[in-house]
Amino acid sequence: MANRHAIVIGGSMAGLCTARVLSDFFERVTVIDRDSFPEGALERPGVPQSRHVHALLARGRYELDALFPGFERTMLERGAHLINFSMDFAALRAEGWAPRRPDSITTLFASRLLIEAIVRELLRKIANVQMAERTDAIGLVAARDGALRVRGLRVRSRDGGGEREIEADLVADVSGRGSRSPAWLGELGIEPPAETVVDSYAGYSSRWFNAPAPERRPPQWWWKGIWLDPKIPEHMNAGVLFPLERYKLAKAQGKLDLVKSHETFFGNDETQVEATPALIIERGEKVFLPPALVFQGTKDEWTSVELAERLAAAYRGTGGIFDLQLLEGERHTFVNEHPFAPNSVKAVEMVKAFIKKYGSKRQALR
Ligand SMILES: Cc1cc2nc3c(=O)[nH]c(=O)nc-3n(C[C@H](O)[C@H](O)[C@H](O)COP(=O)(O)OP(=O)(O)OC[C@H]3O[C@@H](n4cnc5c(N)ncnc54)[C@H](O)[C@@H]3O)c2cc1C
Repeated sequence: MANRHAIVIGGSMAGLCTARVLSDFFERVTVIDRDSFPEGALERPGVPQSRHVHALLARGRYELDALFPGFERTMLERGAHLINFSMDFAALRAEGWAPRRPDSITTLFASRLLIEAIVRELLRKIANVQMAERTDAIGLVAARDGALRVRGLRVRSRDGGGEREIEADLVADVSGRGSRSPAWLGELGIEPPAETVVDSYAGYSSRWFNAPAPERRPPQWWWKGIWLDPKIPEHMNAGVLFPLERYKLAKAQGKLDLVKSHETFFGNDETQVEATPALIIERGEKVFLPPALVFQGTKDEWTSVELAERLAAAYRGTGGIFDLQLLEGERHTFVNEHPFAPNSVKAVEMVKAFIKKYGSKRQALR
């Protein structure tokens, strides 16, 4: 077999890695995918599972860095977390919370979107690899000169132009679970290999949250992630909370100003002080001050009574309306924690009365 041209069907994780390996052995490698690849860590239709949590295990991390030198460094630069699972995760096993103990295995936590985006970016730097996007693989092209062999691929561009054939010495099908290869082999009169299906009977439901910066987390949040095993058969559900790169949505939507202000505010203790509302008013910055009602628990673990009183003084000092209600013994999230407790009910009634009284009044500072 000549090693001139190899085609890889599918430009997802398996396809990108296959293309990287083949680039060492073939003059040219073409990756065919029906999607167009986004710039950066964004979703695309061909990989719908990418919005769910994914764990990149240690071996995968090492192999990716071996195939794509710079993978780990780039992941860390783009916000991936270096995690030592047995130290950094709170893990609830069937027999109880797992003891924390250090071990030498660390891995990177990030979205599957980021992992694929970085691998794709690094593959693009390899000169003899090219990507054919928005192109459907629709069948194999066979030669019957002597033994039956594949000599190329039939494709159709999603941008028009009909079907065409691409010559290749090797075609690798890594198009995922919807692979058409068994049917294509059948069309050539070849019995497809037997399939083994292993069904995990697992279903996923995922949601992305914006986490507070480490400096702003309560002291009992020592963990960087949470892992809850099912307890079979009573509890068939499992749950995980994985740390991912920050500001995914803001970045995806191109709201770079939002990213910047988040980074300023959540950056470190100094920038958080800089952006404290009380200080902003004290500095005389131009801001609008609507009538405000603030409930401050005396046991609030996130913001202090002193800070709330300072904000009230600054607000009132400029003529603003600031109703500060101190609630004895309450914590930051008291309404969420005990929605029907007397203080929560009282707070809700006060909010209603406050809205009724002040409606849409706004007060300009200057
Ligand atoms: C909910 C869920 C959670 C998971 N969690 C983990 C995890 O924690 N860790 C882990 O390692 N794995 C996990 N996986 C598995 C992982 O997502 C997949 O194994 C991996 O994405 C498979 O990659 P792939 O390249 O083989 O195929 P896919 O990601 O399925 O990609 C197939 C590619 O082929 C393209 N394609 C398909 N047909 C054609 C065609 N005819 N012509 C052109 N292009 C085509 C598609 O556009 C796509 O780009 C999880 C999977 C799911 C569903």
